[in-house]
Amino acid sequence: MSGQDHAVHLPDVAGVLAVCAHPDDESFGLGAILHAFGERGAKSAVLCFTHGEASTLHDVAGDLGAVRGAELTAAGTHLGVQHVDVLDYPDGTLAAERVEGLAAHVVGAARDVGADALLVFDHGGVTGHPDHQAATDAAIAAADELDLLVLAWAIPTAIADALNAEFGTAFVGRDPDACDIVLDVDRSAQLAAIRCHASQSSTNAVLRRRLELQRNTECLRVLRPRSAHGWST
Ligand SMILES: [Zn+2]
Repeated sequence: MSGQDHAVHLPDVAGVLAVCAHPDDESFGLGAILHAFGERGAKSAVLCFTHGEASTLHDVAGDLGAVRGAELTAAGTHLGVQHVDVLDYPDGTLAAERVEGLAAHVVGAARDVGADALLVFDHGGVTGHPDHQAATDAAIAAADELDLLVLAWAIPTAIADALNAEFGTAFVGRDPDACDIVLDVDRSAQLAAIRCHASQSSTNAVLRRRLELQRNTECLRVLRPRSAHGWST
């Protein structure tokens, strides 16, 4: 599907599982999309592999892993998420894990919540973090086993380039023609969820700038269709 004939709505799914590396990925990255799925009547859940304890941002006192896990649970209520599962993999080490081991958690969580779709970060990890790529790889392996749709959140190349120029970040963008779905979103629930991640968001100029550049548009890619039902919008 080219950018000329991209879809403008999310597909109808019964349940979507967001597969993330760190608490805040579900809000900073996927928040508006997760909320939009809920608005379409889909159940949603989050599987997060780490507690995010290695973050360089630490705007709230206390053990960062415990703080961030609690922040994720609070954020989920704003996004309409029914279930949050935070695993204990060390932050920053997912790329060294066997993909089969990570995928087994995704298979279990997807079955538990009745998900027929997975929502992940785009190949390249969007921010360039290797943990993000490992989470995406695990999701695709699980989807192959269960025959699930895998949708990836992506940002346009122009926005990635602008952020990298302004902040020296390593965002990996995607040509807009590679977007299968271009979605108009309401960010109010996402912004409320972001505020729950106080340890990561109060001084996060990169996040603020990215949302400003993205406006109310999200780009999604189909990384894996469901073979049993095809891909349709
Ligand atoms: Zn992350």
